[in-house]
Amino acid sequence: MRVRNIPWAKDYLPTQPSFVTDPKELKGQWKEKLGCETLHVEIGSGKGDYWKQMSEMYPEKGWIGIEKNASIAALAMKKVEDDFKENRLFINLDAKDLEEWFEEKELDVIHLNFSDPWPKKRNMKRRLSHHSFLNVYKKLLTDDGRIIMKTDNTKLFEYSIIEFQNSGFILEEVYLDFRKEEHPEDAITEYESKFMKKNQPIYRGVWKK
Ligand code: SAH
Repeated sequence: MRVRNIPWAKDYLPTQPSFVTDPKELKGQWKEKLGCETLHVEIGSGKGDYWKQMSEMYPEKGWIGIEKNASIAALAMKKVEDDFKENRLFINLDAKDLEEWFEEKELDVIHLNFSDPWPKKRNMKRRLSHHSFLNVYKKLLTDDGRIIMKTDNTKLFEYSIIEFQNSGFILEEVYLDFRKEEHPEDAITEYESKFMKKNQPIYRGVWKK
């Protein structure tokens, strides 16, 4: 996702009640903090559309958005500036440090929505479905946890299916055209709506441990 550099982002973020400056401080305590039994984490939230909508559709669940780009994170925080909700928090850091913020088996669902495809082989490690990430997700998920991925990118989806398989995950649901039918239970992300307007199919997979 590209946005112009927002010079006020870094000062603005810590002033927001939904913003977590140091997620290490909440390690092992997220569910208590969010007042929930089921914890969802979205990695690469962009401007936060999915995180915002889903936290409002499922207020009994906890929702954490993670976005590494400060300017983009600031746009997400702007969207909820006047709308604080107890069940959602946002982190502006790189998900490579996920293990420092979450305890083993603390997460119920991890969402990967329209993750950067990183098409060049030399950048493969940055893909959020690279096995190094999957091994961390596996530790942090509960025994009954799920990873849900949506993408428009055929190559990334093909790559991810193999990575999940080789990391010991079980494919539970797969869609090659998720939005062909109505899915009111699942919010449409910003990227997703762009691809839907262009009539591109949306791929979706659900994996369990
Ligand atoms: N989920 C949104 C945005 C998709 S673009 C949507 O569907 O509309 C992917 C986003 O992931 C970008 O904003 C990028 O900055 C973020 N991202 C990529 N790698 C990340 C990482 N390691 N940690 C946190 N965010 C990451």
